Amino acid sequence: MAEEVAAPDRQLVRSLEVQVAGDVLPAEPLSDHTTIKVGGPAAAFVRAETVADLVGVAEVCAALDRPFLILGRGSNLVVADRGWPGVAVTLGRGFRGVEVDGTTVVAGGAERMPVLAARLARAGLGGLAFGVAIPGSLGGAVRMNAGAHGGEMADVLAWADVVRLSSGGGVQRLPAAELGLRYRQTDLPGDAVVIRAGLVLTPTDAETLREEMAEMKQWRRRSQPVNTPSCGSVFANPEGDSAGRLIEASGMKGYRCGGARVSPVHANFITVEPGATAADVHAVLTTVRSTVAEQQGVDLRTEVVLIGFEGPATAGGRGEER
Ligand code: FAD
Repeated sequence: MAEEVAAPDRQLVRSLEVQVAGDVLPAEPLSDHTTIKVGGPAAAFVRAETVADLVGVAEVCAALDRPFLILGRGSNLVVADRGWPGVAVTLGRGFRGVEVDGTTVVAGGAERMPVLAARLARAGLGGLAFGVAIPGSLGGAVRMNAGAHGGEMADVLAWADVVRLSSGGGVQRLPAAELGLRYRQTDLPGDAVVIRAGLVLTPTDAETLREEMAEMKQWRRRSQPVNTPSCGSVFANPEGDSAGRLIEASGMKGYRCGGARVSPVHANFITVEPGATAADVHAVLTTVRSTVAEQQGVDLRTEVVLIGFEGPATAGGRGEER
């Protein structure tokens, strides 16, 4: 049985090594690539450095009929313990870089949001300060329409350059207006890797931005479990209410399964201890959701992306559940 499983993986890794110049790692634990630090291995992990690498991943996945999973900084993902049966692809340093021209900024999809936010603030450009507290990549932030402290990507995004992993081809520029950006959701196609984004910012006093960002970071330290592994907010806030309030009102703050629990600091966070499994996290999440539905009559929408769990909403090349 072990032989049967190993053989196609070797074929997958060999094919990727031929097509991709960036790193190709077999059986890479995805727990090392997510902020919540749980989850099994991907059959292959690719750190793409060029558009050609992404096209290579697309070709190999199509030829060997393997699913792909696009990973940013893994700050909004929970991967099942059984892992991912295909290729997890992330953007390497080749997709970093920031060009500023007046108030227009073009940045690589692998740029880290806090680093980008700080850099633009120093340049006296406002609008992305909220990014200082979002531990994701620019590509992941575009996909999720990430936001905080009254701002969101939709406010500053002009366009995104993407490479489609299902349909192949080169780079396509998608205007923000066509991306359906709304509260923590977009209509960005599931196979689209955001490799670069164009932002339009507002001239703002650099010192004011520095102070705002310091205040945002302080607020996080006071009100969120920032020093314990988590995946950020688990559920989206329902219209006019807060998921954290509903969870707390349902008596679930501190609720625990194995090594995972609802954070006593902020009820919309699930935190883990060493040795926790993805199944523990999933059990906390599903119990919280059903308890809130029973007690408050509200069906919370999962904001975090669940990868590889059994579920009705598993779909496409990514196999995500929301
Ligand atoms: P990942 O978690 O790796 O992936 C998330 C989704 O984006 C997946 O569907 C993935 O396939 C897709 N994706 C990733 N990279 C790309 C790409 N290049 N192209 C296309 N799709 C891609 N979020 C907020 O909005 N506001 C907050 O205030 C906030 N606070 C957080 C605090 C903590 C402590 C943590 C751990 C998380 C927080 N988050 C918050 C969640 C998370 O940081 C954001 O959703 C972030 O935008 C995810 O980016 P990522 O690169 O980590 O994406």
